[in-house]
Amino acid sequence: MSGHVHDLVGVGIGPFNLGLACLAQPTGLDAVFLDRADGFRWHHGMMIEGATIQVPFLADLVTMADPTSEFSFLRWLKHTGRLYPFYIRESFYALRTEYDAYCRWAAERLPGLRWNHEVIAIEHDPAEDVYVVRAMRTDTGEESTVRARHVVVGVGTRPTAPPALRGVAETAVHSADYLRSRDALRATDSITIVGSGQSAAEIYRDLVEGARDGGYRLDWITRSPRFFPMEYTKLTLEMTSPEYTDHFHALPIAMRQHLGREQRSLYKGISADLIDDIYDTLYRLSADGPVPTTLLTDTEVIAAEWDGARHRLRLRHGQLDETHERETASLILATGYASETPPFLAGIADRLDWDALGRLDVARDYSVDGGRGRVFVQNGEEHTHGLTAPDLGFGAWRNSSILASITGREVYPIERRIAFQEFGVPHGALAPEAAR
Ligand SMILES: Cc1cc2nc3c(=O)[nH]c(=O)nc-3n(C[C@H](O)[C@H](O)[C@H](O)COP(=O)(O)OP(=O)(O)OC[C@H]3O[C@@H](n4cnc5c(N)ncnc54)[C@H](O)[C@@H]3O)c2cc1C
Repeated sequence: MSGHVHDLVGVGIGPFNLGLACLAQPTGLDAVFLDRADGFRWHHGMMIEGATIQVPFLADLVTMADPTSEFSFLRWLKHTGRLYPFYIRESFYALRTEYDAYCRWAAERLPGLRWNHEVIAIEHDPAEDVYVVRAMRTDTGEESTVRARHVVVGVGTRPTAPPALRGVAETAVHSADYLRSRDALRATDSITIVGSGQSAAEIYRDLVEGARDGGYRLDWITRSPRFFPMEYTKLTLEMTSPEYTDHFHALPIAMRQHLGREQRSLYKGISADLIDDIYDTLYRLSADGPVPTTLLTDTEVIAAEWDGARHRLRLRHGQLDETHERETASLILATGYASETPPFLAGIADRLDWDALGRLDVARDYSVDGGRGRVFVQNGEEHTHGLTAPDLGFGAWRNSSILASITGREVYPIERRIAFQEFGVPHGALAPEAAR
């Protein structure tokens, strides 16, 4: 089999591979990107009015790699006549709807993006030493094939729920689909939100205002011991850095597992402003009488069922080890997202690295193919690289690293050190007396 061979094929066109496409554009690389969706859409189920992205606008697709790029958020503001209003607004945080529109604007300026292409398999052609990517057209049902020397997998994460709630996944609404279901939710007499991250809080804030007048009860349940804020202090933010990622990546797998659980609060919490806004809203609403709402912490859903009309939840309080039941007409699962190993990698599994837990063993340069430097992943390496994996602010750095591996040169300067603190044992530290 022969045919045109591209330098690079990207699978999935979320912000991370879209950023790669923008940064690859000026290099002359022959790159194509495939996505099963019919166009760029960023978390439309959570495009709640007024919601902002949780990282500064500099964490756009390109700026941290190339501040002069034609694909920057500032260029989009200028292009749409929003630069001066953004300047006067004096906030680092773009509206989520702006970020979505900006990404779509960037996507529309890139020739190599192919939508309606669901990748179903990747094989290796040993004769030409290239990868053969097979995709199914989601609009026509036809199959198409792309051949490339390098593959970058950026298929993101998928909505998930704890095992106890999987039985009601059909009747419950995952936060990823919130806006599409909002009106139907509000039309019921009781809504329960399960989860304690940013999405759960945004949905609670969005619904609490109308609880009394809308005639529905609104409950918010989390197994976390408290509604905790995302940690945003600057020395902690230094962990979103190349050198902390070096440190984390070099740790033994057991320590990485432990830290992965421990560090969840750093980026899986709620923005402090939103927590206070929710409190102030409850305070204001309660001035006119009791607000029909219950907020429960340290309370885990241990069983859930749908009886054809209502959800019945069995709950256990962690500290008291007591169980009780609650019923609700509507159930919102703000229970997060999980990354999984894409099934379409099965055809090249023998060329990839796997860890003791059967996950992709992602090298520090984001490659997964035994040091060949031809197959890379984006936002699928939280277990090997830590909290930088899903962070929009680190996307440009990772893309600069992947492009350097693909082109063999540092197309964009790659910072090795950005933090004031050192992670691990300082360089040049004196060894203990005995060891000298
Ligand atoms: C509501 C929400 C808000 C967030 N806000 C922030 C924020 O403010 N700051 C931050 O740092 N992070 C944020 N995140 C986390 C993270 O940055 C985002 O999830 C981001 O979208 C991840 O980008 P991605 O490119 O990895 O994947 P995604 O955006 O998930 O895109 C993956 C793409 O792959 C495509 N795809 C999947 N499988 C296939 C296949 N087989 N064939 C072809 N295409 C396929 C999908 O159609 C999709 O378009 C947020 C996450 C959520 C859910």
